[in-house]
Amino acid sequence: MQTLLVTGGAGFIGGNFVLFLAKETGVQILNLDKLTYAGNLDTLAPLRGNGRHVFVEGDICDRDLVRRLLGDYRVDAVVNFAAESHVDRSIDGPAAFVETNLLGTFNLLDCAREYWSGLGSSGKNGFRFLHVSTDEVYGSLGPSGKFAETTAYAPNSPYSASKAGSDHLVRAWHHTYGLPVLTTNCSNNYGPYQFPEKLIPLATLKAMRGESLPIYGDGSNVRDWLYVEDHCRAIWRVLEAGRLGEVYNVGGDSERTNLQVVDTLCSLLDELLPDSPHRPHARLKTFVDDRPGHDKRYAIDAHKLQSELGWGPRESFESGLRKTLTWYLENQAWCRRVMDGSYRGERLGTANE
Ligand code: NAD
Repeated sequence: MQTLLVTGGAGFIGGNFVLFLAKETGVQILNLDKLTYAGNLDTLAPLRGNGRHVFVEGDICDRDLVRRLLGDYRVDAVVNFAAESHVDRSIDGPAAFVETNLLGTFNLLDCAREYWSGLGSSGKNGFRFLHVSTDEVYGSLGPSGKFAETTAYAPNSPYSASKAGSDHLVRAWHHTYGLPVLTTNCSNNYGPYQFPEKLIPLATLKAMRGESLPIYGDGSNVRDWLYVEDHCRAIWRVLEAGRLGEVYNVGGDSERTNLQVVDTLCSLLDELLPDSPHRPHARLKTFVDDRPGHDKRYAIDAHKLQSELGWGPRESFESGLRKTLTWYLENQAWCRRVMDGSYRGERLGTANE
């Protein structure tokens, strides 16, 4: 595999994936990103001057652009991260989610099919289209059980519905046209370069400033957490050795309630910031109205990825969280630059007009 078209590679996971590729592989990286509020070139600063990385600002919905990039760069694989990714924002404004997540994925698939069908047999056999998706497509669990690849889809938010639709398109492009696709469905990620609107970076920055830490409902909603580098390694492994047309669940086997996440984060900050006037940070916790339609529990069974492809997470939740908080403490300048004024940490997604 020589050249990868990575979409959404200026965002959180895509950015980490591009940095991972540059460090741990020899591939050429063509990075296509629209640079929405969630995409930031600062994340790619470590790649300045790296001849293996080309950045293109553009939209995955732009047919002419995607066709041109695939042909001009003779792309061997597409890895699709580009998305609107925040559930709260999907409650306030679902249109952009349908546009990018559904229609954008359709456009990528259709352009990839056209390009792939024109390749010679060795190019055709080697080509891959890997779609990065979420465990949220499976809906909500009760107190027991885990999502397997065979679990029926039951998305509940505009975000998860748009991702579910895109997963179905990917599946159909394989079954109908034979496009060599792979899909990964991963649990909640955390780590460096995550835009500070999601629970862990938002709570970290607020706690450092002594602001209240909003906890939705009673804080008992459960998510499975995976350190972003472990996710990147899983995607690379699936790209290398995944069976065509298959779906692989990716998870950290680290179920935590939101309250447990914030409590762990606060006690780590107490330790990392011994002189902070805001210690103990846990006293900043504030319970706020729940998110409309808030899924109760997600848990991932990643057995297939582990047994077939030998992948397993390297970080525990506690070790990954320590790395993450240390990164945010040391990268305040990145946080200031990406929080350019359009978002100031306010509550989103209450469905109020
Ligand atoms: P993110 O919001 O941090 O980044 C998304 C990136 O996509 C941004 O750089 C943005 O500029 C870009 N983008 C948005 N619309 C675009 C368009 N039309 N054309 C080109 N680029 C566009 O998201 P993330 O958290 O890094 O998630 C990446 C992918 O992983 C998404 O598909 C998401 O559904 C999936 N995922 C995320 C998580 C998680 O916990 N964050 C978990 C599982 C799966």
